[in-house]
Amino acid sequence: MNELLKKSALELADMLAAGQITSVELTQACLDRIHAVNPRVNAFLLIDDDGALATARDIDERRARGEKLGRLAGVPIALKDNMVTRGKDTTCGSKILEGWKPPYDATVTLKVAEAGMPVVGKTNMDEFAMGSSTEHSAYGPTGNPWDLDRIPGGSGGGSAAAVGAFMVPLALGSDTGGSIRQPGAVTGTVGVKPTYGAVSRYGLVAMASSLDQIGPVARTVADAAALQEVVGGHDPFDSTSLDEPVAELEKLTAQAAGKPLAGTRVGVVTELQGEGYQKGVLDSFNASVEVLKGLGAEIVEVSCPSFDYALAAYYLIMPAEASSNLARFDGMRYGIRVEPESGHVTAETVMAATREAGFGDEVKRRIILGTHVLSAGYYDAYYGSAQKVRTLVQRDFTAAFEKCDVLVSPTAPTTAFKFGDKIDDPMAMYLNDIATIPANLAGVPGLSLPCGLAAEDGLPVGFQILAPAREDARMYQIAGALEAGIGEPIALSCPASEWEEQA
Ligand code: GLN
Repeated sequence: MNELLKKSALELADMLAAGQITSVELTQACLDRIHAVNPRVNAFLLIDDDGALATARDIDERRARGEKLGRLAGVPIALKDNMVTRGKDTTCGSKILEGWKPPYDATVTLKVAEAGMPVVGKTNMDEFAMGSSTEHSAYGPTGNPWDLDRIPGGSGGGSAAAVGAFMVPLALGSDTGGSIRQPGAVTGTVGVKPTYGAVSRYGLVAMASSLDQIGPVARTVADAAALQEVVGGHDPFDSTSLDEPVAELEKLTAQAAGKPLAGTRVGVVTELQGEGYQKGVLDSFNASVEVLKGLGAEIVEVSCPSFDYALAAYYLIMPAEASSNLARFDGMRYGIRVEPESGHVTAETVMAATREAGFGDEVKRRIILGTHVLSAGYYDAYYGSAQKVRTLVQRDFTAAFEKCDVLVSPTAPTTAFKFGDKIDDPMAMYLNDIATIPANLAGVPGLSLPCGLAAEDGLPVGFQILAPAREDARMYQIAGALEAGIGEPIALSCPASEWEEQA
């Protein structure tokens, strides 16, 4: 493997700025690696050699002319396949959108282009971002770079595996209930769900609009911070976008590394540990809490009793919103169109045949659940109750943040499990998100960073940091301090770096 690929995005950005490497060289190195290992990993659904190299050449030329370029100019990136890219396939991991070429770019796609970042491709995901393992992708699962027989998390397993397997230094994911953070945890990478509204959702194919949030996937906290600076900020095309300037996240993160945390109160959430959590996960988590303590942070135990009901509320609100968002896939406007095998060809029969053939089981399950909980007779009992629980979860956060500056927990209850282990048991699959969902319900930011390897299986463990809404900078600072305190760069010890590459 080309040693450049082990470097962080910011190290590469510095080398590009200093003229030590060109973006074409770096982008070609990523593409070579992707072509060599993707047949095994299946992290990419689309590899865009020509598009990425064209951007790289343009950036190299502009740099040679002495133009002032952005911090990450020339650094390659991958996009989860639910972010629309003009003229380039965007499948959302689904069959129904196979071959669909969007007529426009998502705001994040434009921002990445404006920043001069070559997009090497689109990454695999559970169909319409529904899942925790990528096993629900219509294009086959993605392998975990730590062990190819195991899941890379989901729904954004493709982005996490691409970064974890040194195919690309940065990627974007989307997190509705944990789909950036949980894949980060099980692949030993950093995954961030920013404050709801901090990054525009315009052009993100909607799953559950009140929960969806785009965010960075990286191998270091500072890399993620730098990427959030690129994609964050107000967007008039997204009515829920926050209208405020983006903080200097990279600078603040760098300053925090190596600094003591005296005066910082860290709350360990009682409800997000214990039963159902793997021993090695808890051990690594607790060891990192000790690291925070060693840095001078004050550790307090905080109870958030409504978190016990967050998963149940999420699995009513999310399908309700998803069932209505997915109504647009009707065989007329996007993707495939299937005509009924017999009988009349009408709008209704084409719609039914298209949706029957185009959606997978998990998507159908959620559409049925969502329409059920929204139906007149059940609305108050299910959807209405879930919204009340959502308010209680928000109140738990407010109360907790009066006692501490950030909340912490393991990101996922277990390390990466084997393919097939949970695929036939939706409840077991849903439980992977037990620790990540509360943040989505409340709109607060959450970050997962690798904090160690579980003793029983040697697989990476994720440490989650949650901050109050709009306090993304605080979350990054504490994550940066912890990452420096842990010292050992876990992402770099991924066995994928030893893989033999067959071109
Ligand atoms: N795994 C969760 C689900 O299946 C979260 C998905 C996501 O964040 N997109 O809904």
